[in-house]
Amino acid sequence: MGEAPALFVDDLHCELSNGSALESKGSQTTTIVGDKTYSIGGNDDQSTSTIQVRIFDKSTGKWTIPTVLGTEPQQCKVHSAVLLNGERILVLKGGSTPDDCAWFLEVNTEFVREQRKNFETEVVAWSRGVIGDAQKPIVISGPSGVGKGTLITKLMEEFPSNFGFSVSHTTRSPRNKEKDGVHYHFTDRTVMEKEIKEGKFLEFASVHGNLYGTSIEAVEVVADDGKSCILDIDVQGARSVRASSLEAIFIFICPPSFEELEKRLRERGTETEEQIQKRLRNARKELEQGQLSELFDHKLVNDDLDTCYENLKKLLGLDQNIVSVPKSLPEFVDLPVEHSVSKIDQNIIVIHGSSELKNASKNMLLLDLSSLKGGAPGRTRGLNMYSRDPLANGMDGISS
Ligand code: ADP
Ligand code: 5GP
Repeated sequence: MGEAPALFVDDLHCELSNGSALESKGSQTTTIVGDKTYSIGGNDDQSTSTIQVRIFDKSTGKWTIPTVLGTEPQQCKVHSAVLLNGERILVLKGGSTPDDCAWFLEVNTEFVREQRKNFETEVVAWSRGVIGDAQKPIVISGPSGVGKGTLITKLMEEFPSNFGFSVSHTTRSPRNKEKDGVHYHFTDRTVMEKEIKEGKFLEFASVHGNLYGTSIEAVEVVADDGKSCILDIDVQGARSVRASSLEAIFIFICPPSFEELEKRLRERGTETEEQIQKRLRNARKELEQGQLSELFDHKLVNDDLDTCYENLKKLLGLDQNIVSVPKSLPEFVDLPVEHSVSKIDQNIIVIHGSSELKNASKNMLLLDLSSLKGGAPGRTRGLNMYSRDPLANGMDGISS
């Protein structure tokens, strides 16, 4: 499908499919994609603080309110909209900070098409645009009791600004010292199954009789912090992540012997005898799969803890003195309230105030969309933003 410019509508009367008339107020854009017109903003519903979406279907002549997935952007005074590849609408919020200025409303991406089948309704999905790329996540697998948690804790304690933990969901009960939201999100099976169906999980698996899974949000919040996300997941989960679009480093941890694994599991004292037996049975399968498969980039034996930890740091390039530089953005890049946009190839040019290029008297912003990655139900990353003063030479990159 080709590109279509968004139409700007100040005031619009529309009729919903349930027959009720709506009078829209405030900033609103409409974007045509095939037979459908997506109306964004102009909220009639004062009880909601987020930007509302409605769809007019030319073939039926009716308006509908779709099922909206993903984190919705807060309303703003002025926004502009640009259709990209017929599948998502870039929404730029005037007067907003860089971390809140670019949003993507997915109207016909693979995720949305899949969810339409699930919900049997019209579906759209919001995804926040994030400047720059995420650090590569690290997937750590290995049989229960091998020492994954111990190694991860050491890594996060030594390098708190480099790594963050992906807090998984599980249907198993918490152990004595485990805290909800810190070690796991302890959840009900029916709730988790519903969220899996809604596409909120990057991967999930049945492990030792319980359901475990990594939500997309769990990985995204760590990446938002500019940190590399560590996933402690089983081999099935690692395989799913490998098949996903997430580029990660895969590490498998082996015990020095099966007897030592059993000893560690028993001495940890967190499982009943029956659970230990189940975990040991599964350990044999996991060791077979982990050691033989090409799935893992690195395999480490956790015999002596300190040696294994040093080897882990070495393969992550952390054995030299590293200084982490916190990600910061210059202040001058807030999107102007009054602005106009034009699209040239993979670039969006945002001009302050006037809609006419020749009248651009002050700064302009350039959004480079050529490296976009991800999308709903997570973030859309890889957006690059440059500011330009036409009187100055060249562009100042604020991210690359
Ligand atoms: P996992 O997260 O893989 O299930 P844990 O990190 O909970 O495993 O480790 C299991 C038990 O083994 C813990 O009691 C931990 O203190 C112990 N442990 C971990 N690594 C070693 C090691 N190299 N030598 C001896 N004990 C270890
Ligand atoms: P535990 O119950 O000991 O915390 O974890 C049991 C197993 O589940 C471990 O092998 C661990 O790696 C795995 N696990 C924990 N979280 C997840 C997850 O989100 N997804 C998958 N696939 N496995 C997980």
